[in-house]
Amino acid sequence: MKDVVLRLLEERGVKVTDIAQIVAELCGPDDVPLEECVRSVETVIGKREAQHAILTGIALDVLAERNGLPEPLNAIVRRDEPLYGVDEILALGITNLYGSVGLTSFGYLDKRKLGIIGKLNSHRSGQVHTFLDDLVAGIAAAAAARVAHQRAGVGPSGPDRQAASG
Ligand code: MG
Repeated sequence: MKDVVLRLLEERGVKVTDIAQIVAELCGPDDVPLEECVRSVETVIGKREAQHAILTGIALDVLAERNGLPEPLNAIVRRDEPLYGVDEILALGITNLYGSVGLTSFGYLDKRKLGIIGKLNSHRSGQVHTFLDDLVAGIAAAAAARVAHQRAGVGPSGPDRQAASG
């Protein structure tokens, strides 16, 4: 299923490296190499919870694009109405995979719309990315939280092993 999700993301204009660049920026002063960020993004996308959220969100975007959702939902999703927050709620399911440290990053990305998130949010060429921009923010926030957990110097027998690995 991971391959399907990765292909779907690419079809919608998002590459793993696009998300990894945001992760690197979130990690900021820690100066995390891009390859480590790529690995972290791939690990997050490898989780079933993340895959389900991505599949669901992109399906809703695509349906809205084709005017295939019932009204008034179709118009709400197409317009990306500011008071419609289900896209953020779905994406938070991914962010929360690595604990509450991801929440701050997610909020930051929602405001600042770094990199590919800003491009998706501008809704060019008639495409609908109401869910996808938040999903990308959710993946990036989770991947950055994962890096932070791993870099906290937790050894293989440490109490946070489960949070840091996988
Ligand atoms: Mg959105």
